[in-house]
Amino acid sequence: MEKQKVVFLDRDGVLNKEMGDYVCRLEDFIILEHNFEPLKKLQERGFLLIVITNQGGLAKGWYSEKTLGKMNKALKDTYAEQGIELIEVYYCNHHPEYNGKCLCRKPGSMMLEKAIGRFNIDASKSYFIGDRERDVLAGEAAGVKGILIESDQPISDVMEQIT
Ligand SMILES: [Mg+2]
Ligand SMILES: [Zn+2]
Repeated sequence: MEKQKVVFLDRDGVLNKEMGDYVCRLEDFIILEHNFEPLKKLQERGFLLIVITNQGGLAKGWYSEKTLGKMNKALKDTYAEQGIELIEVYYCNHHPEYNGKCLCRKPGSMMLEKAIGRFNIDASKSYFIGDRERDVLAGEAAGVKGILIESDQPISDVMEQIT
């Protein structure tokens, strides 16, 4: 079977508005509509879209898995209405102050590696768009090209880097 290519996406500051810290309430989960069009184009070019997010606020008890599930469902449903499939949302629910060092929290690359194995992905043809250095590092550790944007910057600004 031919390998697939992916654009991995950080969540906060890429798909929804960066709030300065973990998004704890569904009311503060504001989806950035300016990315519908570029992500639709990437999907049409054959890229799978997979979300990779640190949610250490879970370890801190700032919000529950249930609330996070509602946010992620809202994200997937809103994109689905636009004809865009977010294939999977991988999140790390650990935080070093509570759980010690885990392998999944970015800049760790385990969430990406899981996806790469599960969906038969060619890492060398894949990308990771994030608004933090740790996103780029996680991507590079998994053999994926990292693309750093500003928080809430439209993905259309970096489309020429995705070949
Ligand atoms: Mg972010
Ligand atoms: Zn983790």
